[in-house]
Parts: sequence; C-alpha cells; structure tokens
Amino acid sequence: MRLAPGSTIGIVGGGQLGRMMAMAAARLGYKCHIYDPHYRPCAAEVAGAFTRAAYDDSAAVARFAEACDVVTYEFENLPVAPLAALGDKLRPGTRSLEIAQDRAAEKRFIEGAGARVAAWREVGSEAELQAAVAALGVPLVLKSRRLGYDGKGQAWIRDADEARTAWASIGDAPAVAEEGVDFKAEFSVLIARGTDGATSAFPCPRNEHDEGILRRSTVPAEAPCDALAEGAIATAAALAAALDHVGMFTVEFFACADGPLVNEIAPRVHNSGHWTIEGAATSQFEQHIRAICGLPLGSTALVAGGAVMDNLIGADVDRWPEILGQPGANLHLYNKGEARPGRKMGHVTRLK
Ligand code: AMP
Repeated sequence: MRLAPGSTIGIVGGGQLGRMMAMAAARLGYKCHIYDPHYRPCAAEVAGAFTRAAYDDSAAVARFAEACDVVTYEFENLPVAPLAALGDKLRPGTRSLEIAQDRAAEKRFIEGAGARVAAWREVGSEAELQAAVAALGVPLVLKSRRLGYDGKGQAWIRDADEARTAWASIGDAPAVAEEGVDFKAEFSVLIARGTDGATSAFPCPRNEHDEGILRRSTVPAEAPCDALAEGAIATAAALAAALDHVGMFTVEFFACADGPLVNEIAPRVHNSGHWTIEGAATSQFEQHIRAICGLPLGSTALVAGGAVMDNLIGADVDRWPEILGQPGANLHLYNKGEARPGRKMGHVTRLK
C-alpha cells in the first residue's frame, strides 16, 4: 500500500524523535497527528493534530488511529495490546515492539537469529543475581528487562559484594545480567526496510557514550568499526527481516577484538542517526516516512566527507548562542523546557 502525500501519519510518542519525524513528513506533504500523554510534548508543536491520552487507553488509541492513514511510533516502551488492534495500519508492527521492549526477549531473538551478544543470564531475584555473578564473573552490568533507556535502570557490579546494592538500585525488578564487555569502540547500523522487504543502510556511525548516554556520533567510523560494518549491516538486515519490520531499524554494536557483538536494537530512528539530517542525501527521518508510506527508499550517500554530531545534554543547551555563531554548526533545539541533567535538549552537527 502506497500512501500519497496529503495522507495523515500518526506518531505515537511526542519527543524529539517524533518532532524530527513530523518535520520530515511535512516536507513531503504529509500531515502528522501526535499521540502522547504529556502536556504539550515537543513533537505536537510541529504537527497539525495532537491527542493527549494515556498509552494504555485502548479506546483513545483506536479513535486516534481512525483519524490516521498509517500509525508509527518513536519509542518502544509502549503497551502492545492497544496497538495490536491496529493490524496492518501500524508500521513497524507489534513484533518489533515486543522484542525491543524486553531485554531478555531481545537477546534470545538476536541469538536465535545467529548473531552474538555478551554472555548473559536472566535474573529474577537477588539469589539469581548472585548465581549470575558466580557464573559470569565481574564486571557485570545489571539491566532491568523493561523501561530502560540512556543508561537508566542499569547498575555495574565490579565486585561480587556489590550485587545486593545493584539489585536494590534497579528496584528489585526482572532483569538481565550481562558481562561487562571490553570493547574497542561502539558503532551502530541504521537501516531502513520497506513494505516490499527492500533494505537500505546508512554509513555506520561510531558512537561515544558517557554514563550510558550518547555524546557523539562520527561518520565515517574509522578502525576498528569500519572493517566490521559490512557484516554488521548484514546482521541488522537479517534481524529486521525476521521481525518483518517496516521503517527505520537501529542496531547498536560493540566492536571487540574478536568481532562485533550486538548490544541492543531499537525499532525506530535513533539518536546516532541525527547526523543524516545534514550529512546524508536522505535523513533517517525522511527514510522512515518513505518506508512506512510504501515509497521508494532514498539515497543514503554522504553529502560531504563525513559528519560529527554532538548531543546537547542538560545545561549544554545554554551554549546555543555560541554554537549559532560557529560557521558550519547545524544547531537543533528540541524546545523541551527544563534542561534537567541527563536530558537530551538538542544536538549540533558539523560536516567534514
Ligand atoms: P544500553 O542502554 O544497554 O545501550 O547501554 C548504554 C551504554 O552503556 C552502552 O552504549 C555502553 O556504552 C554501556 N554498556 C551497556 N552494556 C554494556 C556492557 N555489557 N559492557 C560494557 N558497556 C556496556
């Protein structure tokens, strides 16, 4: 099904990803309708319609979907049942959501598809965590199975004595324990899959994190990521196909001495792809809109020698006047209000 410009795209989630998606959709002549429980989410400011309702309100989700020609989502921590009722109108579908919102299901799925993840154990109690520490050794990262992002719901265990505090710090919730990976670098695959199963990947960015939050993405990624990119793109394409995914799909990798390990998947556009707005012939946001509307995928070629994207996190955003004065700095501000520590407030991309 090809949706012509003029159609309405529903976006569940009204954060900066939804905002940049809506801006890309508008450029192609589509209308957008945002669904979010918050008061004035930043995506609603750039879209023609906004429904404010809870994500688990099935009746409100159904009414919203009736007003849209296709519905997509900008993040994966959503109740599945109300969206499952949308059938083919939801792109990507609920299988992508179910896998990406549960770290244990995600790791099983990745391993089942033949890709490697860090050694891990499912952990449902402090005793199981102690057993995981004994089996896997330290360092370990304890991650809650659900609702984790940007390093939230995570605790490092560097000494077996720290297991008890780590378990308490994630709130005694179902979790996974995974070995601390001694990676050389991190990179991601940003790939789109169309309704016809065609895929198209962007050049892989190298990603630098601080306290679990992405700080910088750089393309092209240099050694050791560059040599691993082709295999990683093939892995990401296989994972997207196994989910029958439609839209942008992101896979984060650790580059290790013995090859790539999958860290996690995101069934959506991703912070490590923001550089594509200025740095690629088609942005990841436009590519997502093209994929879910059944349009041909756009070129993912670099438009310059490369790009560096820096996140503006918390008070970093106060530097906006200085950044605006820098030639070649492409500033994006999300207008999210209060610049709390750790909150992604904007980003800046510089082409090489
Ligand atoms: P995540 O939320 O799982 O993507 O984790 C955020 C960041 O924490 C990653 O991008 C890594 O920088 C770091 N991290 C997560 N898991 C591990 C691990 N098993 N070993 C080493 N670093 C990790």
